[in-house]
Formats: sequence, structure tokens, C-alpha cells
Amino acid sequence: MAGARKSTRRFQKAKLQFRERCARDNAPCWLCGMPIDYDAPPGTTDESFELDHYYPVSKRPDLQEDPAGFRPSHASCNLLRGNRDPMQPIGMLSRQWIAND
Ligand SMILES: [Zn+2]
Repeated sequence: MAGARKSTRRFQKAKLQFRERCARDNAPCWLCGMPIDYDAPPGTTDESFELDHYYPVSKRPDLQEDPAGFRPSHASCNLLRGNRDPMQPIGMLSRQWIAND
């Protein structure tokens, strides 16, 4: 599992720029709508910033480095989301996800 995700230098740079832009705008988590703690280094706390992808990288590895698909999220929300499809709300206990692959 998790074989598709790569971490290129280009992606690292795009990720950094994205975080800076989000921090400047104080962009909230796109998954839960709560403020993100941009002072905390990424991935260190539940409220810290984590780059999420609109389309899960596991499903669309070709879009991993496309900034158009970047979304700001909490590290914890990102983890909760896993590789669910876009716009499926976090926090609903329903497991009736639509499998579309
Ligand atoms: Zn969140």
C-alpha cells in the first residue's frame, strides 16, 4: 500500500509555497472549517497544517503536484479523511461511501 505517493523536490517546494499562502490568508481547514495553527510546524499537532489533495493521491497520483488540487487541512483531519473521495464529510458515521473505481 501507499506505493503511489512520491515526494519530489518540486512537490516539496510547491507544498511550502502553498503553506505560506494559506498562512498569510489564515485559511481554515477545508475538511472541518476550523482555523489551522500555522505557528506549529506541519504535522506536529492535530491543529497543525497538512496539505491535503482534492483528489486522493492514491487515486490520482498524476495530480499530486498540481497546486490546483491542493487544500489546507489539519493534520488530524487529513489523517481521518484517508483516501476518501472529495466532498465526503468527515464526522459522518455512515460507511456507505460510493466506491467509484
Ligand atoms: Zn480540520
